Amino acid sequence: MQIYNTLTRRKETFEPQHPGKVGLYACGVTVYDHCHLGHARSCVAFEVMVRHLRRRGYEVTWVRNYTDIDDKIIRRAHETHTSWEAVAERYISSFQEDMAALGIPPAQIEPKATEHIPGMLEIIRILVDKGFAYQGAPGGDVYFRVGKFPGYGKLSGQSLEDIQAGARIEIDPHKEHPLDFVLWKASKPGEPAWPSPWGPGRPGWHIECSAMSMKYLGETLDLHGGGLDLIFPHHENELAQSEAATGKPFVRYWLHHGLLTIDQEKMSKSLGNFFTIKEVLARFHPEVVRFFLINSHYRSPLDFSDAALGEAEAALLRLYSTLGRLEDLRKHYPGVRGPAPADFTAAALTAEEIDRLLTLPERFAGAMDDDFNTAQALGYMFEAVRLTNRLLEHPAAEPGYVALLAEVRHNLVDLGYVLNLLQAEPQEMLAALRQKGAELKISPQEIERLITERAEARTNKDWARADEIRKELSEMDITLEDTPQGTTWRVKG
Ligand SMILES: [Zn+2]
Repeated sequence: MQIYNTLTRRKETFEPQHPGKVGLYACGVTVYDHCHLGHARSCVAFEVMVRHLRRRGYEVTWVRNYTDIDDKIIRRAHETHTSWEAVAERYISSFQEDMAALGIPPAQIEPKATEHIPGMLEIIRILVDKGFAYQGAPGGDVYFRVGKFPGYGKLSGQSLEDIQAGARIEIDPHKEHPLDFVLWKASKPGEPAWPSPWGPGRPGWHIECSAMSMKYLGETLDLHGGGLDLIFPHHENELAQSEAATGKPFVRYWLHHGLLTIDQEKMSKSLGNFFTIKEVLARFHPEVVRFFLINSHYRSPLDFSDAALGEAEAALLRLYSTLGRLEDLRKHYPGVRGPAPADFTAAALTAEEIDRLLTLPERFAGAMDDDFNTAQALGYMFEAVRLTNRLLEHPAAEPGYVALLAEVRHNLVDLGYVLNLLQAEPQEMLAALRQKGAELKISPQEIERLITERAEARTNKDWARADEIRKELSEMDITLEDTPQGTTWRVKG
Protein backbone atom coordinates (compact mmCIF):
# COMPACT_ATOMS: atom_id res chain seq x y z
CA MET A 1 0.00 0.00 0.00
CA GLN A 2 1.15 3.50 -0.81
CA ILE A 3 0.26 6.42 1.44
CA TYR A 4 1.09 10.07 0.86
CA ASN A 5 3.02 11.33 3.89
CA THR A 6 2.76 15.08 4.54
CA LEU A 7 6.08 14.98 6.42
CA THR A 8 8.11 13.69 3.45
CA ARG A 9 5.81 15.13 0.77
CA ARG A 10 5.68 11.91 -1.19
CA LYS A 11 3.91 8.58 -1.40
CA GLU A 12 5.56 5.89 0.70
CA THR A 13 5.06 2.18 1.11
CA PHE A 14 2.96 1.67 4.21
CA GLU A 15 4.54 -0.41 6.94
CA PRO A 16 2.99 -0.27 10.39
CA GLN A 17 5.26 -0.64 13.41
CA HIS A 18 3.69 -3.90 14.48
CA PRO A 19 2.84 -6.30 11.65
CA GLY A 20 -0.89 -6.61 11.13
CA LYS A 21 -1.79 -3.79 13.52
CA VAL A 22 -2.49 -0.14 12.76
CA GLY A 23 -3.10 2.77 15.12
CA LEU A 24 -4.83 5.84 13.66
CA TYR A 25 -5.44 9.08 15.52
CA ALA A 26 -7.67 11.60 13.73
CA CYS A 27 -8.24 15.02 15.27
CA GLY A 28 -11.88 15.39 16.20
CA VAL A 29 -14.20 18.32 16.69
CA THR A 30 -14.33 21.19 19.14
CA VAL A 31 -17.80 20.87 20.59
CA TYR A 32 -19.22 24.39 20.75
CA ASP A 33 -21.75 24.28 17.89
CA HIS A 34 -23.39 21.94 15.36
CA CYS A 35 -20.92 20.43 12.92
CA HIS A 36 -20.76 21.56 9.31
CA LEU A 37 -20.23 19.51 6.20
CA GLY A 38 -16.44 20.03 6.35
CA HIS A 39 -16.42 17.94 9.54
CA ALA A 40 -18.38 15.23 7.74
CA ARG A 41 -15.72 15.16 5.01
CA SER A 42 -13.05 14.57 7.63
CA CYS A 43 -14.95 11.80 9.39
CA VAL A 44 -15.92 10.03 6.16
CA ALA A 45 -12.33 10.22 4.84
CA PHE A 46 -10.91 8.50 7.91
CA GLU A 47 -13.80 6.05 8.13
CA VAL A 48 -13.11 4.87 4.56
CA MET A 49 -9.37 4.53 5.30
CA VAL A 50 -10.18 2.40 8.33
CA ARG A 51 -12.59 0.26 6.31
CA HIS A 52 -10.00 -0.34 3.61
CA LEU A 53 -7.23 -1.14 6.11
CA ARG A 54 -9.54 -3.66 7.80
CA ARG A 55 -10.41 -5.17 4.43
CA ARG A 56 -6.66 -5.59 3.88
CA GLY A 57 -6.59 -7.60 7.11
CA TYR A 58 -5.16 -5.03 9.50
CA GLU A 59 -6.43 -4.82 13.03
CA VAL A 60 -7.09 -1.08 13.27
CA THR A 61 -7.42 1.00 16.42
CA TRP A 62 -9.10 4.24 15.44
CA VAL A 63 -9.01 7.09 17.96
CA ARG A 64 -10.92 10.34 17.45
CA ASN A 65 -11.02 12.92 20.22
CA TYR A 66 -13.44 15.57 21.42
CA THR A 67 -11.98 18.96 22.31
CA ASP A 68 -14.40 19.68 25.14
CA ILE A 69 -12.68 22.70 26.69
CA ASP A 70 -11.49 25.78 24.81
CA ASP A 71 -12.13 29.53 24.42
CA LYS A 72 -15.07 29.04 22.05
CA ILE A 73 -16.80 26.63 24.41
CA ILE A 74 -16.33 29.03 27.33
CA ARG A 75 -17.63 31.93 25.25
CA ARG A 76 -20.67 29.93 24.13
CA ALA A 77 -21.40 29.03 27.76
CA HIS A 78 -21.32 32.72 28.75
CA GLU A 79 -23.55 33.72 25.83
CA THR A 80 -26.12 31.07 26.61
CA HIS A 81 -25.96 31.44 30.39
CA THR A 82 -25.01 27.86 30.93
CA SER A 83 -21.92 25.87 31.95
CA TRP A 84 -19.08 24.81 29.65
CA GLU A 85 -19.95 21.20 30.58
CA ALA A 86 -23.49 21.66 29.30
CA VAL A 87 -22.26 23.20 26.03
CA ALA A 88 -19.81 20.34 25.47
CA GLU A 89 -22.36 17.68 26.31
CA ARG A 90 -24.97 19.19 24.02
CA TYR A 91 -22.70 19.36 20.99
CA ILE A 92 -21.14 15.94 21.58
CA SER A 93 -24.69 14.57 21.31
CA SER A 94 -25.30 16.65 18.19
CA PHE A 95 -22.10 15.28 16.61
CA GLN A 96 -23.08 11.72 17.48
CA GLU A 97 -26.52 12.24 15.90
CA ASP A 98 -24.86 13.49 12.71
CA MET A 99 -22.47 10.52 12.57
CA ALA A 100 -25.34 8.09 13.07
CA ALA A 101 -27.35 9.83 10.33
CA LEU A 102 -24.40 9.54 7.94
CA GLY A 103 -23.94 5.88 8.87
CA ILE A 104 -20.44 6.43 10.28
CA PRO A 105 -19.72 3.99 13.09
CA PRO A 106 -18.05 5.37 16.23
CA ALA A 107 -14.25 5.20 16.47
CA GLN A 108 -12.97 2.52 18.92
CA ILE A 109 -11.83 5.19 21.34
CA GLU A 110 -13.37 8.65 21.56
CA PRO A 111 -11.50 10.39 24.36
CA LYS A 112 -12.42 13.79 25.80
CA ALA A 113 -9.69 16.32 26.52
CA THR A 114 -10.95 17.11 30.03
CA GLU A 115 -10.68 13.45 31.02
CA HIS A 116 -6.95 13.43 30.18
CA ILE A 117 -5.58 16.44 32.06
CA PRO A 118 -3.16 14.37 34.22
CA GLY A 119 -1.55 12.92 31.07
CA MET A 120 -1.11 16.43 29.64
CA LEU A 121 0.43 17.71 32.88
CA GLU A 122 2.87 14.80 32.82
CA ILE A 123 4.09 15.70 29.31
CA ILE A 124 4.41 19.37 30.30
CA ARG A 125 6.43 18.36 33.39
CA ILE A 126 8.83 16.33 31.24
CA LEU A 127 9.17 19.24 28.80
CA VAL A 128 9.90 21.69 31.64
CA ASP A 129 12.44 19.25 33.15
CA LYS A 130 14.19 18.83 29.80
CA GLY A 131 14.29 22.58 29.19
CA PHE A 132 11.76 22.49 26.31
CA ALA A 133 9.15 24.46 28.26
CA TYR A 134 9.04 27.36 30.71
CA GLN A 135 6.58 29.41 32.67
CA GLY A 136 6.50 33.03 31.45
CA ALA A 137 5.73 34.53 34.86
CA PRO A 138 4.85 33.14 38.30
CA GLY A 139 1.34 31.70 38.09
CA GLY A 140 1.26 32.52 34.36
CA ASP A 141 1.12 30.53 31.11
CA VAL A 142 3.57 27.71 30.36
CA TYR A 143 5.11 27.82 26.87
CA PHE A 144 6.94 25.45 24.57
CA ARG A 145 10.37 26.79 23.63
CA VAL A 146 10.37 26.39 19.82
CA GLY A 147 14.02 27.50 19.43
CA LYS A 148 15.18 24.51 21.46
CA PHE A 149 13.55 21.93 19.16
CA PRO A 150 15.69 21.65 16.00
CA GLY A 151 12.96 20.10 13.85
CA TYR A 152 10.41 22.86 14.40
CA GLY A 153 8.75 23.58 11.03
CA LYS A 154 9.57 20.21 9.43
CA LEU A 155 5.96 19.11 9.05
CA SER A 156 4.78 22.30 7.37
CA GLY A 157 8.07 22.55 5.49
CA GLN A 158 9.17 25.95 6.73
CA SER A 159 11.96 27.34 8.85
CA LEU A 160 11.40 29.30 12.03
CA GLU A 161 12.30 32.45 10.08
CA ASP A 162 9.78 31.65 7.30
CA ILE A 163 7.05 31.14 9.87
CA GLN A 164 7.91 34.34 11.65
CA ALA A 165 7.96 36.30 8.40
CA GLY A 166 4.57 34.89 7.37
CA ALA A 167 2.68 35.09 10.63
CA ARG A 168 0.91 37.92 12.32
CA ILE A 169 2.63 37.79 15.64
CA GLU A 170 1.37 39.40 18.78
CA ILE A 171 4.13 40.64 21.02
CA ASP A 172 3.87 38.93 24.38
CA PRO A 173 6.38 40.09 26.99
CA HIS A 174 6.19 36.73 28.77
CA LYS A 175 7.42 34.75 25.75
CA GLU A 176 11.10 34.22 24.97
CA HIS A 177 10.31 33.79 21.27
CA PRO A 178 7.19 35.09 19.53
CA LEU A 179 6.41 31.60 18.15
CA ASP A 180 6.56 29.85 21.53
CA PHE A 181 3.13 28.33 22.03
CA VAL A 182 0.99 27.74 25.08
CA LEU A 183 1.02 24.35 26.77
CA TRP A 184 -0.84 25.42 29.90
CA LYS A 185 -3.05 28.49 30.16
CA ALA A 186 -3.37 30.21 33.52
CA SER A 187 -7.06 30.69 34.24
CA LYS A 188 -8.70 34.07 34.47
CA PRO A 189 -11.34 34.66 37.16
CA GLY A 190 -14.60 32.88 36.36
CA GLU A 191 -12.97 30.46 33.91
CA PRO A 192 -12.85 26.70 34.40
CA ALA A 193 -9.56 25.64 36.00
CA TRP A 194 -7.69 22.50 36.95
CA PRO A 195 -4.90 22.43 39.55
CA SER A 196 -1.33 22.11 38.25
CA PRO A 197 2.25 22.57 39.51
CA TRP A 198 2.20 25.93 37.67
CA GLY A 199 -1.04 27.16 39.21
CA PRO A 200 -4.70 26.67 38.30
CA GLY A 201 -5.41 26.69 34.58
CA ARG A 202 -6.40 24.67 31.55
CA PRO A 203 -4.53 22.98 28.73
CA GLY A 204 -3.57 24.68 25.50
CA TRP A 205 -5.18 23.05 22.48
CA HIS A 206 -2.21 21.16 21.00
CA ILE A 207 -1.12 19.30 24.15
CA GLU A 208 -4.39 17.38 24.40
CA CYS A 209 -3.81 15.49 21.14
CA SER A 210 -0.27 14.49 22.13
CA ALA A 211 -1.50 13.19 25.48
CA MET A 212 -4.53 11.31 24.15
CA SER A 213 -2.88 9.83 21.06
CA MET A 214 0.18 8.54 22.93
CA LYS A 215 -1.93 7.21 25.78
CA TYR A 216 -3.96 4.95 23.49
CA LEU A 217 -1.55 4.26 20.62
CA GLY A 218 1.95 4.49 22.12
CA GLU A 219 4.72 7.04 21.72
CA THR A 220 4.97 6.50 17.95
CA LEU A 221 1.71 6.47 15.99
CA ASP A 222 1.31 4.70 12.64
CA LEU A 223 -1.14 7.21 11.21
CA HIS A 224 -2.17 10.65 12.36
CA GLY A 225 -4.27 13.08 10.44
CA GLY A 226 -6.79 15.80 10.04
CA GLY A 227 -7.61 18.59 7.61
CA LEU A 228 -4.89 20.45 5.71
CA ASP A 229 -5.61 23.47 7.90
CA LEU A 230 -4.34 21.53 10.93
CA ILE A 231 -0.79 21.08 9.57
CA PHE A 232 0.21 24.41 11.01
CA PRO A 233 0.21 25.21 13.81
CA HIS A 234 -1.70 22.31 15.42
CA HIS A 235 0.19 19.31 14.07
CA GLU A 236 3.54 21.10 13.87
CA ASN A 237 3.18 21.85 17.58
CA GLU A 238 1.97 18.36 18.46
CA LEU A 239 4.99 16.92 16.67
CA ALA A 240 7.46 19.26 18.41
CA GLN A 241 6.17 18.73 21.94
CA SER A 242 5.73 14.96 21.54
CA GLU A 243 9.17 14.32 20.04
CA ALA A 244 10.81 16.69 22.52
CA ALA A 245 9.18 14.77 25.39
CA THR A 246 9.82 11.19 24.20
CA GLY A 247 12.91 11.53 21.99
CA LYS A 248 11.16 9.24 19.48
CA PRO A 249 9.46 9.88 16.13
CA PHE A 250 5.86 10.85 16.92
CA VAL A 251 4.12 9.74 13.72
CA ARG A 252 5.17 7.44 10.88
CA TYR A 253 2.67 8.72 8.27
CA TRP A 254 0.90 12.07 8.45
CA LEU A 255 -2.37 12.19 6.50
CA HIS A 256 -4.13 15.42 5.61
CA HIS A 257 -7.37 15.72 3.70
CA GLY A 258 -8.35 18.64 1.50
CA LEU A 259 -10.86 21.18 2.68
CA LEU A 260 -14.45 21.61 1.70
CA THR A 261 -15.14 24.90 -0.01
CA ILE A 262 -18.25 26.79 -1.03
CA ASP A 263 -17.70 28.75 -4.22
CA GLN A 264 -13.99 28.08 -3.78
CA GLU A 265 -13.79 29.49 -0.25
CA LYS A 266 -13.04 27.34 2.79
CA MET A 267 -16.19 26.27 4.60
CA SER A 268 -15.76 27.46 8.14
CA LYS A 269 -17.60 28.83 11.09
CA SER A 270 -15.36 31.87 11.31
CA LEU A 271 -16.04 32.87 7.69
CA GLY A 272 -19.75 32.35 8.18
CA ASN A 273 -20.10 30.30 4.98
CA PHE A 274 -21.12 26.85 5.97
CA PHE A 275 -23.95 24.37 5.97
CA THR A 276 -24.43 22.22 9.01
CA ILE A 277 -24.63 18.48 8.45
CA LYS A 278 -28.22 18.65 9.66
CA GLU A 279 -29.11 21.28 7.03
CA VAL A 280 -27.58 19.25 4.23
CA LEU A 281 -29.24 16.02 5.38
CA ALA A 282 -32.60 17.75 5.43
CA ARG A 283 -32.28 18.11 1.65
CA PHE A 284 -30.20 15.17 0.50
CA HIS A 285 -30.18 11.48 1.33
CA PRO A 286 -27.22 10.60 3.62
CA GLU A 287 -25.83 8.17 1.06
CA VAL A 288 -25.85 10.93 -1.58
CA VAL A 289 -23.83 13.11 0.81
CA ARG A 290 -21.37 10.26 1.44
CA PHE A 291 -21.07 9.65 -2.28
CA PHE A 292 -20.36 13.34 -2.90
CA LEU A 293 -17.67 13.32 -0.18
CA ILE A 294 -15.75 10.29 -1.46
CA ASN A 295 -16.15 10.80 -5.19
CA SER A 296 -13.01 12.98 -5.04
CA HIS A 297 -9.61 11.97 -3.72
CA TYR A 298 -9.35 12.83 -0.03
CA ARG A 299 -6.40 15.17 -0.59
CA SER A 300 -8.20 17.24 -3.26
CA PRO A 301 -10.21 20.30 -2.44
CA LEU A 302 -13.93 19.67 -2.74
CA ASP A 303 -16.39 22.37 -3.70
CA PHE A 304 -19.91 22.17 -2.35
CA SER A 305 -22.85 23.24 -4.48
CA ASP A 306 -26.41 22.09 -5.05
CA ALA A 307 -25.41 21.07 -8.57
CA ALA A 308 -22.58 18.89 -7.23
CA LEU A 309 -24.95 17.19 -4.79
CA GLY A 310 -27.47 16.78 -7.62
CA GLU A 311 -24.83 15.03 -9.70
CA ALA A 312 -23.96 12.77 -6.79
CA GLU A 313 -27.63 11.89 -6.50
CA ALA A 314 -27.89 11.05 -10.20
CA ALA A 315 -24.74 8.92 -10.01
CA LEU A 316 -26.02 6.99 -7.01
CA LEU A 317 -29.32 6.42 -8.79
CA ARG A 318 -27.40 4.88 -11.68
CA LEU A 319 -25.56 2.49 -9.37
CA TYR A 320 -28.70 1.46 -7.54
CA SER A 321 -30.80 1.12 -10.67
CA THR A 322 -28.33 -1.38 -12.11
CA LEU A 323 -28.16 -3.16 -8.77
CA GLY A 324 -31.97 -3.29 -8.78
CA ARG A 325 -31.97 -4.94 -12.21
CA LEU A 326 -29.36 -7.45 -11.03
CA GLU A 327 -31.42 -8.15 -7.94
CA ASP A 328 -34.50 -8.86 -10.10
CA LEU A 329 -32.45 -11.24 -12.18
CA ARG A 330 -31.29 -13.02 -9.05
CA LYS A 331 -34.90 -13.49 -7.97
CA HIS A 332 -35.61 -15.16 -11.30
CA TYR A 333 -32.67 -17.52 -10.99
CA PRO A 334 -32.33 -18.29 -7.29
CA GLY A 335 -29.28 -20.20 -6.19
CA VAL A 336 -27.07 -19.20 -9.10
CA ARG A 337 -23.92 -17.46 -8.06
CA GLY A 338 -20.47 -17.07 -9.55
CA PRO A 339 -17.71 -17.52 -10.28
CA ALA A 340 -18.67 -17.16 -13.89
CA PRO A 341 -17.21 -19.62 -16.35
CA ALA A 342 -14.13 -18.02 -17.84
CA ASP A 343 -15.07 -19.19 -21.33
CA PHE A 344 -18.40 -17.38 -21.30
CA THR A 345 -18.86 -15.19 -24.33
CA ALA A 346 -21.60 -12.69 -24.94
CA ALA A 347 -22.46 -10.81 -28.06
CA ALA A 348 -22.78 -7.57 -26.10
CA LEU A 349 -19.23 -7.59 -24.64
CA THR A 350 -15.77 -8.44 -25.89
CA ALA A 351 -13.69 -11.01 -24.05
CA GLU A 352 -11.58 -8.15 -22.72
CA GLU A 353 -14.67 -6.37 -21.38
CA ILE A 354 -15.86 -9.52 -19.64
CA ASP A 355 -12.42 -9.81 -18.12
CA ARG A 356 -12.65 -6.24 -16.85
CA LEU A 357 -15.99 -7.02 -15.27
CA LEU A 358 -14.56 -10.04 -13.49
CA THR A 359 -11.39 -8.29 -12.32
CA LEU A 360 -13.25 -5.37 -10.75
CA PRO A 361 -12.25 -6.43 -7.19
CA GLU A 362 -8.53 -6.44 -8.03
CA ARG A 363 -8.65 -3.07 -9.75
CA PHE A 364 -10.76 -1.57 -6.95
CA ALA A 365 -8.27 -2.81 -4.33
CA GLY A 366 -5.39 -1.44 -6.41
CA ALA A 367 -6.98 2.01 -6.47
CA MET A 368 -7.59 1.95 -2.71
CA ASP A 369 -4.03 0.75 -2.12
CA ASP A 370 -2.81 3.80 -4.03
CA ASP A 371 -3.26 6.38 -1.26
CA PHE A 372 -6.95 5.54 -0.78
CA ASN A 373 -7.99 6.67 -4.24
CA THR A 374 -11.75 6.45 -3.78
CA ALA A 375 -12.39 8.48 -6.95
CA GLN A 376 -10.57 5.89 -9.06
CA ALA A 377 -12.22 3.01 -7.19
CA LEU A 378 -15.66 4.49 -7.90
CA GLY A 379 -14.63 5.04 -11.51
CA TYR A 380 -14.01 1.30 -11.84
CA MET A 381 -17.41 0.57 -10.30
CA PHE A 382 -19.09 2.84 -12.83
CA GLU A 383 -17.25 1.16 -15.67
CA ALA A 384 -18.54 -2.19 -14.41
CA VAL A 385 -22.06 -0.77 -14.24
CA ARG A 386 -21.87 0.45 -17.85
CA LEU A 387 -20.70 -2.95 -19.07
CA THR A 388 -23.36 -4.64 -16.95
CA ASN A 389 -26.08 -2.47 -18.44
CA ARG A 390 -25.00 -3.56 -21.90
CA LEU A 391 -25.22 -7.20 -20.85
CA LEU A 392 -28.64 -6.61 -19.37
CA GLU A 393 -29.83 -5.16 -22.67
CA HIS A 394 -28.76 -8.34 -24.44
CA PRO A 395 -29.94 -11.31 -22.40
CA ALA A 396 -28.18 -14.51 -23.38
CA ALA A 397 -29.44 -18.02 -22.98
CA GLU A 398 -26.16 -19.50 -21.81
CA PRO A 399 -25.98 -20.44 -18.12
CA GLY A 400 -22.81 -18.37 -17.79
CA TYR A 401 -24.82 -15.21 -18.39
CA VAL A 402 -26.75 -15.38 -15.13
CA ALA A 403 -23.69 -16.57 -13.20
CA LEU A 404 -21.62 -13.67 -14.51
CA LEU A 405 -24.24 -11.11 -13.54
CA ALA A 406 -24.62 -12.74 -10.12
CA GLU A 407 -20.90 -12.38 -9.64
CA VAL A 408 -21.00 -8.72 -10.67
CA ARG A 409 -23.82 -8.03 -8.25
CA HIS A 410 -21.95 -9.73 -5.43
CA ASN A 411 -18.79 -7.72 -6.19
CA LEU A 412 -20.56 -4.36 -6.37
CA VAL A 413 -22.19 -4.86 -2.98
CA ASP A 414 -19.06 -6.32 -1.43
CA LEU A 415 -16.80 -3.48 -2.65
CA GLY A 416 -19.51 -0.96 -1.78
CA TYR A 417 -19.09 -2.10 1.81
CA VAL A 418 -15.54 -0.69 1.86
CA LEU A 419 -16.95 2.72 0.88
CA ASN A 420 -20.05 2.27 3.04
CA LEU A 421 -22.23 2.60 -0.09
CA LEU A 422 -24.69 0.27 -1.87
CA GLN A 423 -25.66 -1.61 1.29
CA ALA A 424 -29.38 -0.76 1.05
CA GLU A 425 -32.07 -2.78 -0.69
CA PRO A 426 -32.09 -1.31 -4.25
CA GLN A 427 -35.84 -0.81 -4.68
CA GLU A 428 -36.17 0.88 -1.28
CA MET A 429 -33.19 3.09 -1.99
CA LEU A 430 -34.43 4.07 -5.45
CA ALA A 431 -37.79 5.03 -3.96
CA ALA A 432 -36.11 7.04 -1.20
CA LEU A 433 -33.79 8.82 -3.63
CA ARG A 434 -36.61 9.70 -6.00
CA GLN A 435 -38.70 11.03 -3.17
CA LYS A 436 -35.87 13.08 -1.68
CA GLY A 437 -34.33 14.31 -4.91
CA ALA A 438 -35.54 16.28 -7.85
CA GLU A 439 -38.60 14.85 -9.54
CA LEU A 440 -37.22 12.81 -12.38
CA LYS A 441 -39.45 12.82 -15.43
CA ILE A 442 -37.96 9.54 -16.60
CA SER A 443 -36.74 6.49 -14.68
CA PRO A 444 -32.99 5.92 -14.31
CA GLN A 445 -33.47 2.50 -15.92
CA GLU A 446 -35.01 4.14 -18.98
CA ILE A 447 -32.19 6.71 -19.13
CA GLU A 448 -29.62 3.92 -19.00
CA ARG A 449 -31.47 2.05 -21.73
CA LEU A 450 -31.45 5.14 -23.97
CA ILE A 451 -27.74 5.77 -23.31
CA THR A 452 -26.98 2.20 -24.37
CA GLU A 453 -29.16 2.58 -27.45
CA ARG A 454 -27.43 5.86 -28.34
CA ALA A 455 -23.98 4.28 -27.95
CA GLU A 456 -25.03 1.54 -30.34
CA ALA A 457 -26.45 4.06 -32.80
CA ARG A 458 -23.12 5.88 -32.73
CA THR A 459 -21.20 2.66 -33.26
CA ASN A 460 -23.39 2.02 -36.30
CA LYS A 461 -22.86 5.64 -37.44
CA ASP A 462 -26.60 6.28 -37.11
CA TRP A 463 -25.99 9.90 -36.06
CA ALA A 464 -29.63 10.92 -36.57
CA ARG A 465 -30.86 8.40 -33.98
CA ALA A 466 -28.05 9.33 -31.57
CA ASP A 467 -28.97 13.04 -31.76
CA GLU A 468 -32.64 12.20 -31.41
CA ILE A 469 -31.96 10.37 -28.13
CA ARG A 470 -29.90 13.25 -26.75
CA LYS A 471 -32.73 15.66 -27.64
CA GLU A 472 -35.38 13.37 -26.19
CA LEU A 473 -33.50 13.21 -22.86
CA SER A 474 -32.81 16.93 -22.89
CA GLU A 475 -36.54 17.59 -23.09
CA MET A 476 -36.88 15.63 -19.87
CA ASP A 477 -34.14 17.75 -18.24
CA ILE A 478 -31.47 15.10 -18.54
CA THR A 479 -28.06 16.24 -19.79
CA LEU A 480 -25.65 13.74 -21.28
CA GLU A 481 -21.90 14.06 -21.00
CA ASP A 482 -19.56 12.00 -23.14
CA THR A 483 -16.28 11.25 -21.37
CA PRO A 484 -13.41 8.94 -22.32
CA GLN A 485 -14.87 6.46 -19.81
CA GLY A 486 -18.32 6.54 -21.36
CA THR A 487 -21.49 8.58 -21.16
CA THR A 488 -22.82 9.95 -17.89
CA TRP A 489 -26.04 11.79 -17.21
CA ARG A 490 -27.32 14.33 -14.76
CA VAL A 491 -30.43 16.32 -14.07
CA LYS A 492 -30.19 19.87 -15.42
CA GLY A 493 -29.53 22.28 -12.58
ZN1 LIG B 1 -5.56 17.39 17.35
